[in-house]
Amino acid sequence: MNTLKIAYTRREDLIPAAEIIKNGGIVAFPTETVYGLGGNALDAGAAKKIYAAKGRPSDNPLIVHLASPADAEKYCVTSELFYKLADAFMPGPITVIMPKKDCIPYSCTGGLDTVGIRVPSNPVAHEFIELCGCPIAAPSANISGKPSPTSFSHIVHDLDGRVDCLIDGGDCEYGVESTIVKFKDENTIQLLRPGAVTVEMLTLICPTVEIDPAVLKKFDGVPLAPGMKYRHYAPSVPLTILDGGDEEVYEYLRSREEKIGVICYDEDMPFISGEKLSCGGKTDSLTQAHRLFSCLRSFDGRDDLDAIYARMPSKDGIGLAVFNRLIKASGFTVIKL
Ligand code: AMP
Ligand code: MG
Repeated sequence: MNTLKIAYTRREDLIPAAEIIKNGGIVAFPTETVYGLGGNALDAGAAKKIYAAKGRPSDNPLIVHLASPADAEKYCVTSELFYKLADAFMPGPITVIMPKKDCIPYSCTGGLDTVGIRVPSNPVAHEFIELCGCPIAAPSANISGKPSPTSFSHIVHDLDGRVDCLIDGGDCEYGVESTIVKFKDENTIQLLRPGAVTVEMLTLICPTVEIDPAVLKKFDGVPLAPGMKYRHYAPSVPLTILDGGDEEVYEYLRSREEKIGVICYDEDMPFISGEKLSCGGKTDSLTQAHRLFSCLRSFDGRDDLDAIYARMPSKDGIGLAVFNRLIKASGFTVIKL
């Protein structure tokens, strides 16, 4: 397939991409979280193309992206709590799960009666959705199971030749996927996936926020967010999380005889020999989120490495999202030092 590549400089640049969507095609586009792979959410055929291009299991639902929270009414059954969250956090990096209306095909929701609604704040994403004139169903624009794409080079690597169009909008601001929430009742939010809208921020709007067990540890039951059961973000070289103080971590890494790559913090760099990448300062969770998937991708496909190690991150604020993605990428392999 010949893939059209568009470098965004102004709104008009997006017209060919919007035409592709109107004709049933699929387009990868930037958002403030990660790059998404979008199609018309009202077109069951477009959803099928997205699943095929990503190699994604068809029971893993897509998120529906809108230009404005006021449009949500057309596609799902909203509530007062939805509008409270929308006032506080939309446009922005949050997805709200609500009962779907009939116009959203089951092929887009993985067969579920609910749909995830998101209103991106990234200006390119916003203009693109407006120009398309329809809701855009989009998962992350990576090959299924691989780290999500946070820069244009990542989507070229994963999807060139597999999709109709790729839009270059630079690097994604946050670098981790949206916070996903569901309502247990009008006074209780369930957090299904942590992101840049943090538990602390949600608590200001709704005092009771329950963290789904699958966010924090390996979960063998039926997860509330179907995608959670799949191995995620995994580089091809096995990743292990090291949970310990500075000296224990440095000592453990020095004692390794295999060829290793390390994802660490700025402060660690002088104390670790061999291949290492910093994902930011030790207490700078925002930068860690921004760089995490790039670090994982840098070590992906490195057949010359035997193992990758990363440090256990803080779980505060957006750190909870970094922690959640790292433990999933490691297949929940943590060594307590
Ligand atoms: P991705 O954007 O690739 O992270 O994929 C979207 C994720 O959103 C899925 O893996 C699900 O975990 C979640 N999701 C989307 N729609 C729903 C829904 N209706 N119910 C629960 N989770 C959902
Ligand atoms: Mg994904």
